[in-house]
Amino acid sequence: MTTPAPPRIAVSDRGAERLRAGHPWVYRSDVLTPIHEARFAAIVDRRGKPLGWGAVHPSSLLAIRLWHRHDTPIDATLIAERIDTALDYRERLRSDPAAGLEGATALRLLHAEADRVPGLIVDQLGPVLVMQNGSAALEPHLETVAALLKARTGATALLLRGDAKARQLEGLSPKPRALFGEVPDQVEVSDGVLNWILNPLRGQKTGAYLDQRLNQRRFASAVASFTPGGTVLDVFSHHGGFGLHAIASGAGAATLIDSSAAALQGGAEAARRNQLSEPERLHGDAFDTLRALRSEGRRFDAISLDPPPFAKRSRDLERALAGYKELHLSALRLLNPGGILASASCSAAVGEADLLNVISEAAADLAAADQAAADHPPLQILSRSGAAPDHPERLGFPESAYLKFVLLHRAPAEPGARG
Ligand code: SAH
Repeated sequence: MTTPAPPRIAVSDRGAERLRAGHPWVYRSDVLTPIHEARFAAIVDRRGKPLGWGAVHPSSLLAIRLWHRHDTPIDATLIAERIDTALDYRERLRSDPAAGLEGATALRLLHAEADRVPGLIVDQLGPVLVMQNGSAALEPHLETVAALLKARTGATALLLRGDAKARQLEGLSPKPRALFGEVPDQVEVSDGVLNWILNPLRGQKTGAYLDQRLNQRRFASAVASFTPGGTVLDVFSHHGGFGLHAIASGAGAATLIDSSAAALQGGAEAARRNQLSEPERLHGDAFDTLRALRSEGRRFDAISLDPPPFAKRSRDLERALAGYKELHLSALRLLNPGGILASASCSAAVGEADLLNVISEAAADLAAADQAAADHPPLQILSRSGAAPDHPERLGFPESAYLKFVLLHRAPAEPGARG
């Protein structure tokens, strides 16, 4: 008996065009052949011309994730090559002073599609690796991946987390499990400047927001040079990366706002660990808390805004932009002239231009509405950036440019302008 040839999955002209343009995804609506199971399969166009090989899924909206453009199967050798290439890239980053990884013991090793391992994320947190896999076709190969990562990194344990939303969409088990070693409850890592206690199993994402590492430093150094000794408000703080870096760079005091008590607790621990003055911690919804601070008459010299994604899909864009605008209005009301505003969006559907536009609208509304308009001088852009370079962006795949970050300076008040 001969084994049946693996299926060749045909895609529409629109799907084929997307793949040929370099995008790795084909949505359900552009697939012409029924997909019976999650697996690796050859992808062809309407006329049967090969487009490459990818991971296919029978029910996910994201029906095809392309791995390569050749007409050859995806095998363990290819997976090993991809991992080697991604780890070589991290080694280069480590030896590049401009990459800002010096001294860091936590970094992203595999960044899914942008490292050509669709659906697979691996972060190194000191001796422990934390993995998220949202690709069912890849799931049977994870033991191989784990062995390769162990050999190259010397990690003592690898945890496969179960809570990534993509796992649910592909019908994968939500139960976390160790692929090797014993996963500790806590690990201590350095971001190159500060030390953090992270929880690989229960922490948000894989334990930390490593993508913001350099932006936290950019914020801290702007605070140090524009408002030395000033007060800092870190909104959507998680462990307080923005606020604590600012304190470490000489800010006078930091206030953290987060709806997660565990996240704030992590901030208090990190402050102790790094011998920094303890931050004020406000547990609650950021929108409500910002309103409360305003009614108490509080003001700050620097504010960072780093909300969770408001718009993952483009149809949520309008609602998301309204949310961002409200957030910036509230923040700008609390920001002293001469102060620093950092604003991040990790919503895939919100571009940098959208973000800047919303900030500009909020600033204009405020200046128009407020009697004391002299308190709201214009904003200058100090820098714009994205995620740290261990979270590479892949050209032709805009979804990988999910993080936008802008750093702004509010001009100082002009003494004669008041009244
Ligand atoms: N600034 C952090 C990362 C923030 S991630 C860093 O640099 O590490 C977004 C944070 O927002 C999470 O910690 C989450 O707990 C918190 N959050 C989500 N919804 C919130 C809300 N409505 N109000 C306040 N915090 C919220």
